Amino acid sequence: MIDIKQFRFDGKSKFRISKVDPGSTGKFKSKQEAEERLEKNILTMRDLQEKLYADATYSILIIIQAMDTAGKDGAIKHVMSGLNPQGTEVHSFKQPSAEELNHDYLWRAHKSLPQRGQFGIFNRSYYEDVLVVRVHDLLGKQKLPAELITGDVWERRFRQINQFERYLNDNGTIVIKIFLHISKEEQKKRLLARIEDKAKNWKFSEADLIEREYWEQYQACYEEGVRKTGTDVAPWYVVPADKKWFARLIVSEIIVRRLEALKLKFPTLDKEQLKSLEKCKKSLMRK
Ligand code: AMP
Ligand code: MG
Repeated sequence: MIDIKQFRFDGKSKFRISKVDPGSTGKFKSKQEAEERLEKNILTMRDLQEKLYADATYSILIIIQAMDTAGKDGAIKHVMSGLNPQGTEVHSFKQPSAEELNHDYLWRAHKSLPQRGQFGIFNRSYYEDVLVVRVHDLLGKQKLPAELITGDVWERRFRQINQFERYLNDNGTIVIKIFLHISKEEQKKRLLARIEDKAKNWKFSEADLIEREYWEQYQACYEEGVRKTGTDVAPWYVVPADKKWFARLIVSEIIVRRLEALKLKFPTLDKEQLKSLEKCKKSLMRK
């Protein structure tokens, strides 16, 4: 059994980003061992997805946040590879469009939420509005009335996010939040690989180098974000991500455990419905 509690932050203990070792691989000694378990989890997720779909009451929202190169796309590609595309939607949140900036910051997220019975994956999310917006002081671009841009604006956003996530939870949306945590050293390696490996050149963006300059500011915002928005209904999972195989395994483990806790079952028919089914069967047999 993998202990995923060690990665979970729900506001009960004080989260310190420096206490999480991005290079950790837990008890796993080999990539192969982890990959076997990941394969198993992928199959389990597929079974659970079918029940989720049939039950059609809960929806699953998976939020993935991380620094550049931390492996968000890879985690989505590998961990979700077993899911039925018909029941899954991925949304990548980029710099907001003009239309998006003409609304409150939760609007585009709310519009993209998964339907009942479905998975929604957010590659970045409204958390960017307390991360990049904070680090680069972009509030001025968000078209807020000037009197609302006050010193407590971040505190208010944390509160709004907590209320939003509680609201989602109260309405059947299970919120799973994952922060893939890499080290600055590992990011350097991955950026260099994107320059040196021709097949990876397309992934390289000079903008990532600029963001890297703000590493410490981002870490501070992540730390505060996890502290203030890790709650019992929507805890954060801070996943060591220097080893991609370990991060993917842990992400799959978190999702499987959360889905299992829902104790999903295929809907059963009542007496009337069974009777009607029998009638249909007889009618089919006659023709
Ligand atoms: P990528 O994930 O590499 O495609 O990059 C998307 C970019 O959009 C990142 O640099 C994010 O920081 C940026 N982004 C996402 N949401 C926001 C936002 N609300 N305000 C400003 N920039 C954002
Ligand atoms: Mg990028």
